[in-house]
Amino acid sequence: AKLLGLKDASLLRDAAYINGAWVPAQTKFDVVNPSTQAVLATVPNLAEPDAHAAIAAAQAAFPLWAAKTGKERANIMRRWFDLIISHADDLAAIMTAEQGKPLAEAKGEVIYGASFVEWFAEEAKRVAGDVMASTWSDKRMVVLRQPIGVCAAITPWNFPIAMITRKVAPAVAAGCSIVIKPAEQTPLSALAIAELAHRAGIPAGIINIITADAEQSVAVGKVLCDSSVVRHLSFTGSTPVGRILMRQSAPTVKKLALELGGHAPFIVFEDADIDAAVEGALLSKFRNSGQTCVCTNRFYAHASVYDEFVSKLAAGAQKIRVGDGFDAGVNQGPMIDAQAVAKVEEHVADAMAQGARLLAGGKPHSAGELFYEPTVLADVTASMLVMNEETFGPVAAVVKFTSEEEVIAAANNTDFGLASYFYSRDIGRVWRVAEKLEYGMVGINTGLISNEVAPFGGVKQSGLGREGSKYGMDEYLEMKYLCMGGI
Ligand code: ADP
Repeated sequence: AKLLGLKDASLLRDAAYINGAWVPAQTKFDVVNPSTQAVLATVPNLAEPDAHAAIAAAQAAFPLWAAKTGKERANIMRRWFDLIISHADDLAAIMTAEQGKPLAEAKGEVIYGASFVEWFAEEAKRVAGDVMASTWSDKRMVVLRQPIGVCAAITPWNFPIAMITRKVAPAVAAGCSIVIKPAEQTPLSALAIAELAHRAGIPAGIINIITADAEQSVAVGKVLCDSSVVRHLSFTGSTPVGRILMRQSAPTVKKLALELGGHAPFIVFEDADIDAAVEGALLSKFRNSGQTCVCTNRFYAHASVYDEFVSKLAAGAQKIRVGDGFDAGVNQGPMIDAQAVAKVEEHVADAMAQGARLLAGGKPHSAGELFYEPTVLADVTASMLVMNEETFGPVAAVVKFTSEEEVIAAANNTDFGLASYFYSRDIGRVWRVAEKLEYGMVGINTGLISNEVAPFGGVKQSGLGREGSKYGMDEYLEMKYLCMGGI
């Protein structure tokens, strides 16, 4: 805590949080700063029995929480929101230390993460059932909406707070309890917001955090999937792991929300405002070092604006300041681990071998082991790895196209369907293209689309369900039909 200069040192927790108590453990694992490789803390490496204990705690706590009114839950959640906001600087410092993203970006995520708590606190008051027009004169037909029960969440490291609050806030607002297994790289952010939930008065057992390393995460995940007490599993992460969890959840026919990989296309039409497109492209590509599932992976620029777009994009990429997230003025931090860097290197090497033209970056950055230069590749073709796999790194690959039909077909030619982007000022084209893109989200003349009011999610193998928005609570509510006769 001293090292991070936290105002409130008790936000830095090194125990798991189960049934309202901080649970130490014999076996621990290191949390490492990806910028410096310094060990920040050691946290419990929990196992199957701890997962069972957390599920039992969530099960025991559920009935009382579910029985509260939406307004009572909303008031407690509002306190949690206020606490997150008032500790935003400390939460951002913890996040930058364990995840690497620049401090300003971390603070932005804290605010974004908090917005889900605020939004769903408000939505807690608006859960409404329904009364149907009966087809029987002596019967009445009513629909209740009730909390689904004990939930589980498995979350990734790229948004250490927001990916938790986006799941936990609607669950808790609906009256559910939840067991969270945060990413092994970023447990400290999860524990810090649990500390604030505790202070806000969210009762013991409603929110539980099980920390585990990569290997134990698999074992804990198995327990969460196998449990018939756990009625809902929400996962954000890679598509392969999503498939495993889906398979493991089949025996208990669990309700699933999956936010999986993306392979976002970003199309620049000939009628686009090129400077605006470049600005949107830089935001969509290089944010969080390219490590978000809505980051652009494939740029398509029309032949008539291609040269201008790629040269301006390269100029923009060269202006990005790479370094430690705590250093002032830095806008790109390290990658999360060596594997992430290796994937970027593989994609760049493959593209170069197949004839791509390097316009910016293209190699590891001198700031440290896990840093990679913001990279722009032109003359990219469909056979290159970067066009077929999610890079999850700071590499902008640009392809030239000539017709609207051709580029829509290319953009849709993937098993992924999360985010997509395009720039055009032709209103007819805007509607045509927006309707034809097979994606859950379409950014039109913008590279930044996520907020708590909008439904976030993908089609095809990018996942199931939507998070945030007025639809986000549906995941955590079951419908119950009452048929009332004898009237
Ligand atoms: P990434 O590639 O972004 O790290 P992963 O899908 O590997 O994404 O990991 C996302 C989350 O899923 C992390 O919390 C990780 O611990 C967890 N995880 C990975 N593999 C499994 C598994 N087999 N069972 C349960 N959880 C898993």
